[in-house]
Amino acid sequence: MDAERIDPLTVALEQLRTTAERIDLDSNIYEILKYPKQSLVVSIPIKLDNGKVSVFTGCRVQHNDARGPFKGGIRYHPDVTLNEIRALAMWMTWKCAVVDIPYGGAKGGVCCDPKELSKEELERLTRRYVSALMDIIGPFRDVPAPDVYTDEQIMAWIMDTYSRFKGYSVPECVTGKPIILGGSEGRTEATSRGVIICVRETTGRLGLKMKGATVAVQGFGTVGWNAARIAYDMGCRVIAVSDSRGAIHCEEGLNPYKVYEHKEKNGSVVDYKGCENVTNGELLELKCDILIPAALENQLMKATAGSIRARIIVEAANGPTTPEADKILQEKGVFVVPDILANAGGATVSYLEWVQNLEREHWSLEEVNRKLESKMLKAFNDVYETATKEKSDMRTVALMLGIGRVGEAIKTLGIWP
Ligand code: NAD
Repeated sequence: MDAERIDPLTVALEQLRTTAERIDLDSNIYEILKYPKQSLVVSIPIKLDNGKVSVFTGCRVQHNDARGPFKGGIRYHPDVTLNEIRALAMWMTWKCAVVDIPYGGAKGGVCCDPKELSKEELERLTRRYVSALMDIIGPFRDVPAPDVYTDEQIMAWIMDTYSRFKGYSVPECVTGKPIILGGSEGRTEATSRGVIICVRETTGRLGLKMKGATVAVQGFGTVGWNAARIAYDMGCRVIAVSDSRGAIHCEEGLNPYKVYEHKEKNGSVVDYKGCENVTNGELLELKCDILIPAALENQLMKATAGSIRARIIVEAANGPTTPEADKILQEKGVFVVPDILANAGGATVSYLEWVQNLEREHWSLEEVNRKLESKMLKAFNDVYETATKEKSDMRTVALMLGIGRVGEAIKTLGIWP
C-alpha cells in the first residue's frame, strides 16, 4: 500500500486549530502553540567504514516547555523531514499533558537508513549528532529518548557523548538507556504496556473479553512486538503481525515469541511457518476485534478506512490515522483510542527513569509498572468519561484535555516580558 503523501504537520496544525475553537482557547496562546519554540537543523559529516565521508541531515525540534523540560524521541529513518519532526514534537507536548507528566514536547530525527550503516557508523553518527545538539539538550532542558530505529545502545552513546562534554556522568540526560547505565525497569516495553492497558480498558467498557479477543498488529519493532506478546500473555488471539517487508496472518492465532525468534533469524516476520503471507494493506483490513498500528504515520487513510473491519483501534504509532480516515472510522462506529493517549506509556516510564536518575534510585519492575498503570488509567478514565458525557470521540477529547492544560500553563506563567 502506498502511503498518501500527507504532511503530518498539516494534520497536527489542523487538530490544534479545531481544538482551539472548541475549547475557546485564547487567540494569543493559539498563536504561540502553532510554532515550535526552537528548531535546530544540523549537518552531520561521518567517516564511513570505506573511508569516504557522507553528510547526513539531522534536526531537533522543541515545541513547548510551559509544563516542564522538553522531552521526546529521536528517529533515524530515510523519510525524516523537518515537518514530520515538528508534528511529532507538537503531539509530544499534548501527550505529556494528557498523561500529566511535567514535560514539554520535543522530537529529533536524522535522515538516514540505519539498515545500511554498520554499528560503528551508527555510533559515529549518533555521537556527532549529539555534539551538534549540546547547547540545547540536557537533563533540565531537553531529554531525548528512543523512537523508530533507535534503541537503548544509541541512548547509551548519547549518555556517553553528553557526559564526556560535561566532564562527569549525566545519566539523567537521556531515557531509554540500558538498565546497567541507569535505565528503568520496564522502559523497553512501557509504550506497549500502556497500549495494552488501553486495550483492556476499552474491551471492558465495550463488553468484550480480552481472553480470545482477536488482535492484528502492524509493525513488529519495539512497540509492535511487545504489544503483540503482552496481548498474547493476557489471552488475546494474535492473528496477524507485520514489518516493513510484509505481513503474516493465521486465523487460529500465532505465538509472537516464536515469530520474534523467526524475525531474529531471518530479518523479517514474512514466511513464518503456519501463517500465510499477506500485504500490510491486507493486514489493516482483516476482521478482528483490535487493530494496533505500531509502525509509522499515515497508515490508515481515506482510501482504505472504509474497508477496516476492526471493532477497536488502539494507536500505538504516532499519527497512524489521517483526519479523513478518522471521520470514516467514526461513522462506521470503530472505537479509536488516539496516539496521544494510547502510546503515552513510553513517555511516562521515561519520566519515571528521569526521576530515578535524579534521585540516584532504582525501582523494582513492580513499582514502575504500578506507577505506569496508575498514570495511564487516570488519563484513560479522564478522556473516556468526558467523551461519554459530551458524546464525543476519544481523539477530540484527548486533544481538548492536552491542549487545554498546556494553554492554562502558558496563561498562568504569563507571556514574558
Ligand atoms: P521500531 O523501529 O522499533 O519499529 C518500527 C517497526 O515498524 C519495524 O518492525 C518496521 O519494520 C516496521 N515498519 C516500518 N515501516 C512499515 C510499514 N510501512 N508497514 C509495516 N511495518 C513497518 O520503532 P518503535 O519504537 O516500535 O516505534 C513504532 C511507532 O511507535 C512509531 O510511530 C513511534 O513514533 C511510536 N512510539 C514509539 C515509542 C517508543 O517508546 N519506542 C513511544 C511512543 C510512540
